[in-house]
Amino acid sequence: MINLTLTESLQKLNNREISTVELTRAYLDRIEKYGADLNCYITTTPERAMADAAASDARRAAGDAKFLDGAPIAMKDLFATRGIRTTAASRMLENFVPEYESTVSQKFIDAGTVLLGKANLDEFAMGTFSKTSYFGAPINPWQLDKQLTAGGSSGGSTSAVASGLAIAATGTDTGGSIRFPAAITGLVGMKPTYGLCSRWGCVAFASSLDTPGPIARTVDDAALMLSAMAGHDPKDSTSSTHGFSCNAPLDPVLGNGKKLRIGIIKEFNDVKISDDMKSLFDARIRDLKSMGAEIVEVSIPNILDALAAYYIIAPAEASSNLARYDGMRYGLRVEGRDIYDTFKKTRAAGFGDEVQRRMIIGTAVLSSESYDVYFMQAARVRRMIADSFNAAFEQCDLIICPSSAGTAMPLASDLTPLEYYALDLFTVAMNLAGIPACSVPAGLAQNGLPLGIQVVGARFDDMRVLQLAKHIETAAAIDNRPTTIMGK
Ligand code: GLN
Repeated sequence: MINLTLTESLQKLNNREISTVELTRAYLDRIEKYGADLNCYITTTPERAMADAAASDARRAAGDAKFLDGAPIAMKDLFATRGIRTTAASRMLENFVPEYESTVSQKFIDAGTVLLGKANLDEFAMGTFSKTSYFGAPINPWQLDKQLTAGGSSGGSTSAVASGLAIAATGTDTGGSIRFPAAITGLVGMKPTYGLCSRWGCVAFASSLDTPGPIARTVDDAALMLSAMAGHDPKDSTSSTHGFSCNAPLDPVLGNGKKLRIGIIKEFNDVKISDDMKSLFDARIRDLKSMGAEIVEVSIPNILDALAAYYIIAPAEASSNLARYDGMRYGLRVEGRDIYDTFKKTRAAGFGDEVQRRMIIGTAVLSSESYDVYFMQAARVRRMIADSFNAAFEQCDLIICPSSAGTAMPLASDLTPLEYYALDLFTVAMNLAGIPACSVPAGLAQNGLPLGIQVVGARFDDMRVLQLAKHIETAAAIDNRPTTIMGK
C-alpha cells in the first residue's frame, strides 16, 4: 500500500478497496521499523493517527468523505499542533506543547488527513542539510550506506516521503527549504506564491520570505496537497485572497498545438553545475521543445546578488523574530543571577550555533552604522530582482532552471557556513520575489542519485507552474521509490 501515490490511495479509499485504518497501519508499521534510523520524525503520533484513521473511515462510510480523507501525512515540526509538541528542532522549544493549531495544520484536519507525526528540520528552518537540528539530521534513503543528507531545512519531510514513511508532507521555504531537499531526494517540492498559504501558527524565521508548501511523490499529489493548505486567513496580514484549488490529474499545458514560451535565465548559464545536471537540464529542454514549447533566453540582471541580499534580509528578520525566546513566556528557561543573566543563559543554552550566527548577522546589519549599506541595499536588490522577473514574464510564460548544482552530499561533508549558504544560489531569488517555484525530478545522475529542475512562474501562476512541472515529471520518468527501502 505504501507504493501508492496520494492520488492513487484516495482513489482506492473512495472505491473501498482499502480502508484508512489499513493504510495508516501500513505507514505506522514502517515508521516503527525505519523511523529511528532515518531520524525523519522528531515526534510520532501513532495514537492520534489511529484515531484520525477511524474517524476517516466512519466519515467515508457515512458518505461524508472530505477532500483528502484518509491521507497519512507528516507535518514539518515548525507548524504548531494543539496538544502535540512543536519544537522547530530547537532545544529552546524542546518541551513546547502549543495550545493552538496552525492554520495550515488545521486545514489538513479539515481535509480529513491523518497525522503521522512531526517531521525533523533544521533548527528554526535555518540550514540546508537539516544538520542544525537539535535532534540530529534525518537521512536520505537513496543510498543508505553513504549517509547522505535529505536536504534542509525540510529534510525530515523529504526523508519521510522518499522512504515511504508518509504519503506526503508539509514544508516551509524561506530560501529553498522545500525545493532543495525535494530535488535531492527525487521528490516534488512546491514553494507557492508568497501569501497563498497562511503563516499563522508557523514558527517564524523570516516573515517576508517564509512560505509553507507541499512535498510529495508526484506533481498531482503536490497539487492536491496545495489545494488543501492554500486559502485566505484573516489571522495572517500577508495572506492573499487568491486561493488555489484543483483536482488531480492536472490538465496539460503542452501538446495538442498548445503554445508556451519557456524562459531560461541567461545569468545562470555562467554558474557552475555538475555535468549530470547540465545534461539532464538539456534533455528536458529538448523534450519540452518536441512538445511544442518555444525556448527563450531571459535576463534577471541581479539574480547572482540574490544570495547576498537573502543572507542580509533573512537574518535581519530572524533576529527580530527570535527575540521572543527570552525564557519568560514559554520555551526553555535557564535561571540566572538577575533578569539579564536569565536572558543570556536561556538564549545561550537554547539556540544552536547556526541560529546564534544568524541573530548576530541580523543584529549587525540592522545596526545604525550598517543599516543603509547592508539592509537598505539588500532591500533595493530585492526590488530589482522582483521587477526583473516581472519584465521576464512579459517575454515568456514560465521559467525553468536547475534546483541545485549537484546531487545529495554526505552528511559528514565539512562545509563552512558560507559554503552552505552558496548552495541556495538557485532558490533564494524566488523567495525574494515572492513568486511560485516547483522542483520536479529531472532524472538520475550517473551516481544513481536524483536531480531536480525548477519551474518558476509569475505571482499566482501556481497552477501553470505545476502543470508544466508535470510534463517534466512525465518526460524524466524516474522511479522515486529508492530500492534501499521501498523494496522493489
Ligand atoms: N538554506 C537556507 C537558509 O539556511 C534556506 C532555509 C529555508 O528556506 N528555510 O536560510
